[in-house]
Amino acid sequence: MMKKLKEQIMQEFPHRCPYCEKTITYEQFNLKAGENEIKCPSCKKKYIKVVAPSFTEGDHGSRSE
Ligand SMILES: [Zn+2]
Repeated sequence: MMKKLKEQIMQEFPHRCPYCEKTITYEQFNLKAGENEIKCPSCKKKYIKVVAPSFTEGDHGSRSE
């Protein structure tokens, strides 16, 4: 399906802040499935990063809520 293919491609490309387009490493944010509030280290603006459930597969039990 087109949607699945698109998700895979997006995960391989560098992620960028939608405001300043600076490349952001999401590893530092400890992303979980669903919506994650990201604060750009560069311009300090916040935005929502949506993570597909498959993105966190293989990392069970690591959520801290
Ligand atoms: Zn930014």
